[in-house]
Amino acid sequence: MMVSIGEVLIDFIALQEGRLREVRSFERHPGGAPANVAVGLSRLGVESALVSKVGDDPFGDFLLEELRNEGVRTYIPRDGERHTGVVFVQLIGAKPEFILYDGVAYFNLKPGDVDFSVLENAEVVHFGTVLLAREPSRSTLFGILRKLKGKVMLSYDVNLRPDLWRGRNGEMLRDVEEALRLADVVKLGDGELEYLRGNGIEPENFNPWLMAVTSGERGSELVGECCRVRVPAYRVEPLDTTGAGDAFMAALLAGLYHSNLLGKMELDEESLRRIGRFANLVAALSTTRRGAWSVPKMEEIILMREVRGLYQRSSR
Ligand code: ATP
Repeated sequence: MMVSIGEVLIDFIALQEGRLREVRSFERHPGGAPANVAVGLSRLGVESALVSKVGDDPFGDFLLEELRNEGVRTYIPRDGERHTGVVFVQLIGAKPEFILYDGVAYFNLKPGDVDFSVLENAEVVHFGTVLLAREPSRSTLFGILRKLKGKVMLSYDVNLRPDLWRGRNGEMLRDVEEALRLADVVKLGDGELEYLRGNGIEPENFNPWLMAVTSGERGSELVGECCRVRVPAYRVEPLDTTGAGDAFMAALLAGLYHSNLLGKMELDEESLRRIGRFANLVAALSTTRRGAWSVPKMEEIILMREVRGLYQRSSR
């Protein structure tokens, strides 16, 4: 099983064009990057679970139900004091304008909320940066990762949201460095890579087992100990690129799983290329559907000529 740990929330997506201050109506979608990855994994035939926290409120009921409908196992206690996370989003060009609510349940994740045996027995534990923006979730997440280091493969999608740190950039960068030190698999966008390098952080220096850098319609680059490979994007007519990065992340992990590559000491060039092609394909297909939960099901993908030969393990 692969376990994601992090935020699950309601994305309220603007229904009119223009700045958030002008928008009058929003549509409700389940979201949160680690939750999106858990759903993507489940759709791609990998048993998956989400560790998080929601409020004891109707939005919490909705998210738990949606995750369970997707076949994601939920280790998500209810918070009697804090509400379920919500975010209001507008896409202005390619750049999202958003209001992410503070003081919500997932930032209140405490060690006692987490069933450690679920994490300890996972094949992969996947996490992102958002929980690191507040306490107690930051200490809880770092505590868990330090205990798991070297025992379970740790996967990190950098997914930077500097607005969340509001002027505490130094703290954010220190936390990202610590997360990079702990992670075995690292994924980040080319813009994020540039930003980190501009601040003196070179992710490759932390020697991840596998690093993937995504560049939207230009595809991705995968870096392993053996070598680096550039994989062009799969060509589609995109409708909505929200969650393309999360779809890529889920497909990267699912590709490793289905090709029996998890735990291999070294990835060769051919394996990197196949995994990259699969992740690009799934991410591209996800952009042809709306919303963040837009990864196609394995049953559909497996029929495509492009993925033949990837699967030695049977899907669920
Ligand atoms: P987000 O934060 O919106 O989820 P991201 O910045 O993390 O996205 P991108 O680099 O935009 O991630 O995209 C991830 C992957 O999705 C790319 O590497 C590529 O394979 C695929 N992708 C994204 N946009 C397109 C596109 N227009 N056409 C084809 N593939 C795309």
